[in-house]
Amino acid sequence: MTCEDAHSHMHDYISGELAPEHYKPLMNHLEECGSCRALFNQTRLLQTTVRNFMQYETPPELQTAVSRILLDI
Ligand SMILES: [Zn+2]
Repeated sequence: MTCEDAHSHMHDYISGELAPEHYKPLMNHLEECGSCRALFNQTRLLQTTVRNFMQYETPPELQTAVSRILLDI
């Protein structure tokens, strides 16, 4: 798997759309590739923060906007 593939799978994983057969190759790549692992951790952390924030009353438009930004990283 190339870093480019890994990036696109990461987005799928974070948005819950990763095909099960890509999960293991992605995890293997993250183990071997420090830069992808850093990106993955960063994106996941950001996502957790946003999720927590969204538990409060967040207008749906804002939720959509934030999800778009996350998927764009
Ligand atoms: Zn990589």
